[in-house]
Amino acid sequence: MKRGKILIISGPSGAGKTTVVKEFLSRVKTPFHCSISATTRSPRPGEIDGVNYHFITPEQFAAKKAENGFLESVEVFGTGVWYGTPIEEVEPYLNKGEWTLLEIDVRGCELIKQRYGKEVVSVFISPGSMKALEERLRGRKTESEADIAIRLKRAEAEMATADKYDYIVVNDVVAKAADAICHIVEKEI
Ligand code: 5GP
Repeated sequence: MKRGKILIISGPSGAGKTTVVKEFLSRVKTPFHCSISATTRSPRPGEIDGVNYHFITPEQFAAKKAENGFLESVEVFGTGVWYGTPIEEVEPYLNKGEWTLLEIDVRGCELIKQRYGKEVVSVFISPGSMKALEERLRGRKTESEADIAIRLKRAEAEMATADKYDYIVVNDVVAKAADAICHIVEKEI
């Protein structure tokens, strides 16, 4: 059977990735599995363990990492909070011929590309502007001022990595951005 491919979606926090991904999944014709990452950060209000993330303790994370249970893992904001892609969220689905979507940061993207090469299609979601990004970050009222400052600083660094991706999609209108990703998938099948 033809193995599925990995679709990586990256972009700065506040670029609207989650909304675009949700819209994309409601439109795409190909069967997709969404990988659920593990993280040591606390759930935001409304986030559910096993749905948004596998919320685990730093000890559980370290143990899984030590037994090579992650395809990649990164301390994304350099603040002691870890994120990682569990192997079991990806491999079984690729083997079944399903595409698997990973919403991960730029370093995670590079690690996955090193491992999977041509099986990876990477898309960078860019906010319309830094102003739009800041408005979205503040609007969702889920981060403290200190966290917003960290995310804004990191967003600038992340924007500078956009050219490492196979495709860049600007999220000015969600439906348009979702359709653009659908076209990318159709082209890469
Ligand atoms: P958030 O805390 O807002 O959910 O996610 C913060 C950042 O971590 C986002 O850029 C997101 O793409 C990234 N991220 C989420 N899961 C993973 C993962 O498993 N691996 C890596 N490398 N980054 C991740």
